[in-house]
Order: sequence, then C-alpha cells, then structure tokens
Amino acid sequence: MPANVRKFLAQTSVFLRIGTALLGAGALTFVAFTIIFASVLFFQPRGMSLPATVQPIAPAGPQDTILVVAAHPDDEFLGVAGYVAASIKNGAQAYVIVVTNGEASLIADAITKRSLLFPPSFFVKEGNRRPMESLAALSWIGVPKDQVYFLGYPTRELKNLLLRNWSASTPFRSPYTKQSAPPFDMVFDPDARYTGENAVADIRELIERIRPTILLTQGKEDENDDHRAVYYFTQKAMADAGRESGFPSATSTREYFFLIHFRQYSFPGVARFSYELVPPVDFEKNNAQWYSFSLTRELFDLKKQGVAEYKSQLVNPYLKLLLNSFVKRNELLYTEESQ
Ligand SMILES: [Zn+2]
Repeated sequence: MPANVRKFLAQTSVFLRIGTALLGAGALTFVAFTIIFASVLFFQPRGMSLPATVQPIAPAGPQDTILVVAAHPDDEFLGVAGYVAASIKNGAQAYVIVVTNGEASLIADAITKRSLLFPPSFFVKEGNRRPMESLAALSWIGVPKDQVYFLGYPTRELKNLLLRNWSASTPFRSPYTKQSAPPFDMVFDPDARYTGENAVADIRELIERIRPTILLTQGKEDENDDHRAVYYFTQKAMADAGRESGFPSATSTREYFFLIHFRQYSFPGVARFSYELVPPVDFEKNNAQWYSFSLTRELFDLKKQGVAEYKSQLVNPYLKLLLNSFVKRNELLYTEESQ
C-alpha cells in the first residue's frame, strides 16, 4: 500500500474515532437532558411540600358572591375551579368574566409570526369555539352559563390596550381578526371598541351588577402579558366601581390572586392527586400571603373532568402538560400583603 494511501487511511480512522466519540458524547448529553426535562415535567421532587407560612383557606359560604376575572378561556378553571366548586356546593354564588375569547392562543408562541398568514376568519372561529369549552368545563363545577361573561377583547394584545390604546380616540385593531371591536358571537358588549377604557368599563359594569364579596383574579407577577393586563384592568375597575352605584368596593371585597405562568411553578405536568402546588421559591413579591385550598378527591376528579373540555388546548403537547399541571390536590391563592 503506498505511503500516502496508508497516511490517508490512518487520518480517516482518527477522524472516524473523533466523530464517534463526539456522537457518543452528544447522545449521552441528549439522554441526560431528556431525563432532567422529563423529571421536571412529570415527577414531583420528594419533600417538596407547603411551607408553614401558607395558610389554609376554607370555601366561601351562602353569604358570598365570588367573581373570577381571567384573561383567556381556561385560566379561570386552571386557577380556581376547585375553590369555586366547593364554594358553590357550600351555597355561594359564582360568576366568571373572561376578558378575551382566546382567539389567538392555540398557535401560541411557536408560530407567532406565521400566524399572520391565517385568514381573519380562522381567528373568529377560534374566538367562538374556546368560550364554549369554558362553559362546558364550568358546568362541571356548577357555574350556570348565564353567569359567565366573555368580553372579546383581543387575545395576546391586552398590553396594547393598557399602554397604547387606552382612550376611545385610538381603538386597537387586532392583527388576527383585523377588527377593532369583538367579531365574536357571544360577547358581553359587541359594540365595545378595543380600548383600555372600554375593557375597564365593561369589568366595572359587571362588578357593580354582581357585587362580589370575593374577587379572584390573575396576579401582576404572572409572566403572561394578557394575565398582567387583566390584573391592572380589574384593579382600575374595582377602584371605579360604585362611584354611582353605591357598591362599596375596596373595603368589603376580599381580593385574592392566582398565578398561571411563572417559570415552572405548576409543573410537573401530570394530573395527580398526590401532587401539591407550592408557591414558587423565587416569587418576586416576598410579602405576599399565600393560601392553599385543599381539594377533596371528589373535587379533584371534577377538576380533571372539566380540564378535559379544553380540547383546543389539549392538542398542543406543551399546553396539555400545562393544563394537567394544575390538576393537583390543592390550589393556591395569594394576597398582596402578609397578614
Ligand atoms: Zn391565559
């Protein structure tokens, strides 16, 4: 064999060995990451239990009217379905406001840019379908359909209403439906132009009608912009409520917040009665007072059945994990100041 051919073969075998080693290392890294990822998604670490500072909370009673204000059709159920179910069984009234119809959530983050290629009719259809899923889920826990309000404000765009299109002179135009007012079948105020003022006015009007003794809404620490915007709309609506109607807002309504998106807060992503939701260790607001509502096995099963109604969300593998991650033996609420 000529020397240059031998040299070539020797070099090739070195490259092959290096290549094999790299491939092996790559495969090992992949396996390691898969194991770590799977444990975050599916296994609750042992010894992960509620800190002593978390107080138990009892369901509301016959003297109470609960109002849940949520951003998208599913937040209301993931966050507080067990608490609301137990309170209704206990004689409380319950109402739900969902600020958007969820028309642009299905495709979510993965294809945000491409989503503009879908025709507006696609999003209108989504915005008509998702509220039906919420109604079906809420009927499992006894919330009557006529006590659930969808406001139809633009999904994924509430921040614009809050920060840029606040006043009525500049309504926001949805990049999804291409509309500046809700184009959906079943909304509280179909003529409401997309402005922050109108969103607050709708919520305020409902607060004045419903007169909640307990208000449950999304926390301002949530990592989702729509969720945070709903917090601010609701705070403003509560502050405005009652000026004309005599509703004594801030003083007599107990207000609690719930989290949906906060790092890996709710994971593992499987519905399991032995799993417990615990407050995130790195929660920004250190003086929050946390409350845990314990679900009975029966309430857990009801919540699981209800979550199965959100079929449009469950087809997305990530959302399936997220939705199931809220089906645990407890739900967490917090107030903004330690008591
Ligand atoms: Zn949401």
